[in-house]
Amino acid sequence: MSLRLFNTLGREMQKFVPIDDKKVGMYTCGPTVYQYAHIGNLRSYVFEDELRRALEYFGYEVRHVMNVTDVGHLTDDADEGEDKVIKSAREMGKTVWDIAEHFTDAFFTDVEKLNIEQPTVVCRATDHIDDMIEMIRRIEANGYTYEAGGNIYFDTSKFPNYGELALLDRQEQRAGARIEVDENKKHPRDFVLWFTKSKFENQAMIWDSPWGRGYPGWHIECSAMSTQYLGEHFDIHTGGVDHIPVHHTNEIAQTEAATGHTWVNYWIHGEFLLMDTGKMSKSKGNFVTLGVLEEEGFEPLDFRFLCLGGHYRTQLQFSYDALNAARQSRRNLLDRIAAIKEAAGAGGEGADAGDGGGRFADASTGDAGAETRLGERAAAWLSGFEEHLGDDLNVPKCLADLWGVVKDDALTPGEKLDLVARMDGIFALDLLEAQASTDTSLLEDDIRKLVEERTEARKNRNFARADEIRDMLAERGIILEDTPEGTRWKKL
Ligand code: AMP
Ligand code: ZN
Repeated sequence: MSLRLFNTLGREMQKFVPIDDKKVGMYTCGPTVYQYAHIGNLRSYVFEDELRRALEYFGYEVRHVMNVTDVGHLTDDADEGEDKVIKSAREMGKTVWDIAEHFTDAFFTDVEKLNIEQPTVVCRATDHIDDMIEMIRRIEANGYTYEAGGNIYFDTSKFPNYGELALLDRQEQRAGARIEVDENKKHPRDFVLWFTKSKFENQAMIWDSPWGRGYPGWHIECSAMSTQYLGEHFDIHTGGVDHIPVHHTNEIAQTEAATGHTWVNYWIHGEFLLMDTGKMSKSKGNFVTLGVLEEEGFEPLDFRFLCLGGHYRTQLQFSYDALNAARQSRRNLLDRIAAIKEAAGAGGEGADAGDGGGRFADASTGDAGAETRLGERAAAWLSGFEEHLGDDLNVPKCLADLWGVVKDDALTPGEKLDLVARMDGIFALDLLEAQASTDTSLLEDDIRKLVEERTEARKNRNFARADEIRDMLAERGIILEDTPEGTRWKKL
């Protein structure tokens, strides 16, 4: 049993071999806290949670570090655009520090609702300004910087492997295509390490530095904090694919310029969640938050379930129809598991199947440790699941395995519950907490009554009434589908 991951650095599938035999250091670019996280951001954090859970499943002890960008950043390297934290503070009539705290708390509330494990270390940029200054000094001492217009820039032409992660073309770098023009820069891709010159009035967050009072560029915090908590060479760095061409490319250049050696072994990136209108972004204003989904009557785990249904390296299209389908599917799964629990009987077979969400570090088929021994058929299911998980986190296939287990009549209820518990260590869907429910329980009373009346009418072969009700419901945005398992519904 082994784990293979797709490394953006080199663009190939690689067997995962940590630096230390059993310990893994993993860094995740965390939220920028001037706004609520949108569900696109949250898809990235769910993927990173799957990765961490998979590593733990395979027996590694993971030290997971995440930053919180609470410095009032600009959105790009050029000294332009508006400082987002200051803008939010002005709009909400609060201080920048209040804003950062408010949105940091909101972020970790979302994280908890989505059953995303808390990072081992959460570090705030504003607590690490000295570490950033120290790293910039090292980069400067090694000859990779220049000063222009009051700012300290990183000279990308001095770093021979610049752009390796993003497969940037040297030619294109020189031409400066698609890069904003900053006349202080010697080369289009150079970026600011320390700003002393700012256009913004009342810049609230500024610090003393050897280069004058100012604030850090927006890449240096990840380099400074990750090395602080994970050392100068660690295993995994994650983020969304949008970070490949600039943020992560610059993180690599500046860190390796400071240390003089390789920094991170595996770069793992998650694809985007798309809205109907295209990529979701805070600045585009087409973003939906977890709170909005909850207001629409969805549970956070419906969204987690939707995320699990797509491989982390493929784009996922968000729509309320897709989320409705995810909710239905999750309810069906929970209903089945509730029925299996009933069949197993309280305190009976399978009652010690697990803690309903914990991880089973030694639950592998090859190394079952203290776990109950599985029958041959159950073990085969588990090894299939582990193979899919180890194959660059093929969680959609793992979900199919879960369905297979739930539906396999040759397994005993106890075996099923045992497998569900182990698998839920990855999914984190609280599967063993499933309680019996009916599909229609999610509907408003009057609509539910109509659906039930229609089922009755169909049973009595009163198809005219059944069709009439179907049309009435359609007018109210409820679409019915008759399946061998019963009538399913979805809201438009
Ligand atoms: P930010 O707060 O903008 O730095 O983003 C936080 C995380 O969300 C980063 O890992 C981004 O790469 C990721 N991200 C941003 N937009 C999306 C999206 N639409 N879908 C998936 N991930 C995203
Ligand atoms: Zn970062």
